[in-house]
Amino acid sequence: MSPHTHLLCSLTSRDVASMREAVARALADGADGVELRLDALSAPPSDEDIRILIGAAAGAPVVVTCRPVREGGEYAGDEQARLELLQRAAKLGASFIDVEHDVPAEDRPEGPKILSHHDFDGIPDKLGELAAGMDASDAQVNKIALMASGPADALRALDLLRACGKRTIALAMGEPGALSRIAAKKFGAFCTYSASAAGAEAAPGQLTVAELRGTYRWDAVGADTRLFGVIGCPVAHSMSPAIHNAAFDATGFDGLYVPLRVEPGRDNFRRFMDALLARPWTDCRGLSVTIPHKEHALEYVGEAGCDELSRRIGAINTITIDSDGVLRGDNTDYAAAVDTLCSAMEIRREGLSGRKIAVLGAGGASRALVAAVAHYGAEVTIYNRTLERAEKLAEEFGCSAAPIDAADDTDAEVVVNCTPIGMHSHKSAGRSPLGKLPPTVRVVFDTIYNPPRTPLLIQARDAGRLCVSGLDMFVNQAAEQFRIWTGLPAPRDAMRQVVVRRLQSP
Ligand code: NAP
Repeated sequence: MSPHTHLLCSLTSRDVASMREAVARALADGADGVELRLDALSAPPSDEDIRILIGAAAGAPVVVTCRPVREGGEYAGDEQARLELLQRAAKLGASFIDVEHDVPAEDRPEGPKILSHHDFDGIPDKLGELAAGMDASDAQVNKIALMASGPADALRALDLLRACGKRTIALAMGEPGALSRIAAKKFGAFCTYSASAAGAEAAPGQLTVAELRGTYRWDAVGADTRLFGVIGCPVAHSMSPAIHNAAFDATGFDGLYVPLRVEPGRDNFRRFMDALLARPWTDCRGLSVTIPHKEHALEYVGEAGCDELSRRIGAINTITIDSDGVLRGDNTDYAAAVDTLCSAMEIRREGLSGRKIAVLGAGGASRALVAAVAHYGAEVTIYNRTLERAEKLAEEFGCSAAPIDAADDTDAEVVVNCTPIGMHSHKSAGRSPLGKLPPTVRVVFDTIYNPPRTPLLIQARDAGRLCVSGLDMFVNQAAEQFRIWTGLPAPRDAMRQVVVRRLQSP
């Protein structure tokens, strides 16, 4: 195999005929090699079976693995027979056989080898010693897979790539370890393993070939690629990786944007950030921050590194890291909310002064919007289910408060919905937060972006009012992050298309 990072697809079919088809499909889908997980086969393969499977790869790299139960695989048979199977595979032309590190050196089959260690409980004790021992073996490649409890563990896996003297695969399994799989090529790993389809993962946290090639820009990534990501919990369904990676594609910017699942809690956030900043070689230049870490992010960056409105809101959604590791915080949520509204109304931010705005909801989204429009002089009334929460927010930003039912009778010119009422898959889906549209309301802004046309917007459109979509706000907050990080104008159309496509897909 050549020295680049291979994108291997792990195949776990139950019979030889299906695995043979899966080899061809994986290569057609964009894998540049396969891992045959012989432990998944329901019967041990004959020499002819192995020949057929290796032949199906038509010269592409083939790693043959027969993982025993003790290392997280399915093989429960005789150990000697297992090692003989691997030995046969090596003789029959496997590019590599995967042999577990706990097999005594004198029992290991001969041939090109990946020496592997898996820990499904966490990080092995004495990780450094383990890696050094593997380095000293006669295997061509080291593989260490650990179970990540957070993305800081993925960074520890990446440390191994730098510490080992030979080609190494270092994986942090599970969703929090995604960075180690997605960015394997940037950091010069021997390979990353992927699944042929969602649901066909051979190990926790594997992404599909299509995701790695498509969303995560496999071909474009290199050693100098700058890293970006979204910190949140959950992040699995975040659209941010798709939207930002599409922006990098559209502009040719050499970046890669990954999901970083950090469990709730200030300490977890701090621990990850400390671990990241201690490794400047990651080239991480920017982070989006989402629920539940926006307040922690402001605290971590420090008020001095954030603008006045972000400080008043008490939260940021954007961290920028300069080449010296100095941090800056921004809140593109408020900027996107206010600019989306102003652009639809064809006014500048200052044009909000004196206008009456009714804001439905008193949570995080409302807080960002209220702070911004109040800052530019709008007369704001906050309508909320829990009146006390509205009153507290109103007091902080010099607004009025009222129960949500009273919103039907508002005398405002603009209504902004910052509740989830009408959102896809919410219990209130299909319902508008307003029983009727008050006659004074000229502009209706629904911050919900899924669906893009909410019941409230349909109600407003039917009544001939100016409609402003949460989809534009969502795209604008990401576009502003892109501009801050890259200094380039954001490719809004490409970014919007990605979101629309994702919202339309089942
Ligand atoms: P949040 O902090 O949880 O606040 C939710 C608000 O909605 C609270 O005021 C809550 O009232 C109210 N609410 C929830 N369920 C309700 C119901 N069934 N009936 C009446 N009121 C209800 O959430 P958030 O972060 O502010 O997000 C709110 C919405 O904003 C999201 O659903 C999302 O669609 C939208 N958003 C859009 C973008 C964008 O980029 N387009 C960005 C962020 C958020 P109580 O105080 O009584 O609980």
